[in-house]
Amino acid sequence: MAFEVLPSGSRIGILGGGQLGRMLALAAARLGMRCHVFEPAADPCACQVAERVTRAAYDDVAALRAFAASVDVITYEFENVPLAAIDAVAEIAPVRPGRRALESAQDRLAEKDFLRATGLETAPYASVRNADTLHEALAGIGTPSILKTRRLGYDGKGQARIMAPGDAAAAWASMAGAPSVLEGFIDFEREISVIAARGGDGAVVAFDPGENVHRDGILHTTTIPAAIKASTAQDAVLIAGQILNALDYVGVIGVELFVTRSGLVVNEFAPRVHNSGHWTQGACLIDQFEQHVRAICGWPLGDGARHSDAVMTNLLGDEILGAVDATSAAVHVYGKPEPRPGRKMGHVTRIAPRG
Ligand code: AMP
Repeated sequence: MAFEVLPSGSRIGILGGGQLGRMLALAAARLGMRCHVFEPAADPCACQVAERVTRAAYDDVAALRAFAASVDVITYEFENVPLAAIDAVAEIAPVRPGRRALESAQDRLAEKDFLRATGLETAPYASVRNADTLHEALAGIGTPSILKTRRLGYDGKGQARIMAPGDAAAAWASMAGAPSVLEGFIDFEREISVIAARGGDGAVVAFDPGENVHRDGILHTTTIPAAIKASTAQDAVLIAGQILNALDYVGVIGVELFVTRSGLVVNEFAPRVHNSGHWTQGACLIDQFEQHVRAICGWPLGDGARHSDAVMTNLLGDEILGAVDATSAAVHVYGKPEPRPGRKMGHVTRIAPRG
């Protein structure tokens, strides 16, 4: 059943104060919403554009409860918010998307189990707890394969490639004892992602799939349209819809897929707005951030249509210094103080008439 529509002037609580929270707050402001950001770190970049900020740890229950009491709905901009924090705020204000999406996305093993149970294709995988279980997993999956920590991995961190069985000991040592998952290596043609949304009434809308190129494990560019067949694009959108429905999800999701000769394989999903959806800001009337705000506030979703082709390029570290000269692209600077190497500092989106 559809839930109440939150009118302009309502308050949105955002757990996490990074660039995704910042861009959510900017989109929310356009719809007349006010944002309250909860973030443990000092000077998070979302705080420059939010009405209120709480700086407190995710285990500070009193701060979480006060935050929840000050808002009408709560969302999160990163998937590693502890579940205990979600439970603390959920007693006071609705959390969208819900706990279930977060629970699956926080643990690569639970995520893959969920995807398989939903009937979707994933890389072959096995749980690894120690050197012996890695040995058994390798016997089943073979090489090349990738060992990944179950939790807290992002941008290719917490991963080790195993090209031959002799690499296993070093790979396991690099996990530092963390529970892990071994994945068979997918010989993909390209990587794509679908940014999709589900409203409070169960309506599902998707943006066109984008093609992603990574550099050193970090997203470098997203290009729209992806160079894939129309049927592959449709399959990708249907997969995103299946995930959204299975999770009874409300909000925007980012689903990363491998395109292989024998079809699509789901790599992972992020229960939030996604770096590979930033192109929607330049190429769609309603971008992923507004779409998320619409979904969690019970507003009807935008249709996901795009008016342009687009290429989004991340600006990492010192690359942000070039933003000032990018006069034929839409420039987004996140306002982070230190341009450390590899740190996402901003992005540019170039558009061209729809081909
Ligand atoms: P992830 O953190 O799981 O998104 O992995 C980061 C990147 O590593 C992906 O975007 C792929 O380029 C590559 N990768 C991850 N898992 C696999 C896999 N099972 N087979 C091939 N490449 C992978």
